[in-house]
Amino acid sequence: MTTTTEIQIELHTSPTSQPDLNRLMEAPGFGKVFTDHMVLARWTTDKGWHDAKVTARRPLLIDPAASVLHYAQEVFEGMKAYRATDDRILLFRPEENARRFNASADRLAMPRIPEELFLKAVEQLVRIDRDWIPSGDGSLYLRPFMYANEPFLGVRAAEDYVFCVIASPVGAYFKGGAKAVSLWVETGYARAAAGGTGAAKCGGNYAASLAAQAEASRRGCDQVVFLDAAEHKWVEELGGMNVFFVMGYGSLVTPPLGGTILPGITRASIITLAGERGLRVEERPYSFDEWRQDAASGKLVEAFACGTAAVLAGIGLVRHADGEFVVGDGETGKLTAELRRELVGIQKGLAEDKRDWARWIASD
Ligand SMILES: *Cc1c(COP(=O)(O)O)cnc(C)c1O
Repeated sequence: MTTTTEIQIELHTSPTSQPDLNRLMEAPGFGKVFTDHMVLARWTTDKGWHDAKVTARRPLLIDPAASVLHYAQEVFEGMKAYRATDDRILLFRPEENARRFNASADRLAMPRIPEELFLKAVEQLVRIDRDWIPSGDGSLYLRPFMYANEPFLGVRAAEDYVFCVIASPVGAYFKGGAKAVSLWVETGYARAAAGGTGAAKCGGNYAASLAAQAEASRRGCDQVVFLDAAEHKWVEELGGMNVFFVMGYGSLVTPPLGGTILPGITRASIITLAGERGLRVEERPYSFDEWRQDAASGKLVEAFACGTAAVLAGIGLVRHADGEFVVGDGETGKLTAELRRELVGIQKGLAEDKRDWARWIASD
């Protein structure tokens, strides 16, 4: 079948067998199973964006000299499609992903994609692969990305890019479900420095975080938490999640966006929801020393990490070079659980959407 939408995304659907989602969701691990289709679009200096299509998922052909393979000119997004109890499908604040994708593209000297094209492409893929969207606790994780495709070893911005979207049905992100995660406080490696790419969602940031994540695993921790690059003093974020501290149930503290932290959409949503609950939210620098003292004094009652993949995950054990401490009772706290329930309710279309965050996908 080949059809064309008003913004010229060609559809090449391939007949598919019905996915056995129950079986797939039993398979452990995040991002290992993929749907039948993908989005592809091309950008070149002479033609701009062209050849946008949804097509059968297949390996990409890439020249070994393509600049992404040498200089890591690549950006991506992470977002989810949810199946509501009435079987309708929705996306959560997808225009925020489109906007951030272009902000990341600017930082990596890549072309911007029209937000309508980004959104239409994602929606078309979700519509075509809608049978792959789990119900209940699962969702369809969407991964839009763009890479430099020009075969050229000189160092400058490429003149040829590929935009692609793939999709993966996922269950709970952490194996333990709602169990609190343990963190390794990294004081050697840094994730991002002032003026660097910390605020861009780019593959290079993740490549640079892997040695620290491996160290966290060696130390028996689930995730690494990074401190600032200049003083190794201020808490920044995890490898792929922002972080919040709950102070005596009256206020939340989260590190400020200053160019070295990824501006999470979950983070922004939590700030809004917490404010609506009458909590004070302070976006301010928070040092590791303060964290340790506040945990010991009991001023810090909960802490959590947040991002699209895991939504909210309570932080239990915190291990560092000189020892370790526990936040609260070491389990996911009650405010963390409540905020998580509220956010998931909006994301799944269960709760009233006062802020117009849900984007419902018409079923054709
Ligand atoms: C994607 C990401 C986040 C979370 O952003 P969300 O929009 O909430 O998914 C946090 N930190 C890093 C480094 C990220 O890449």
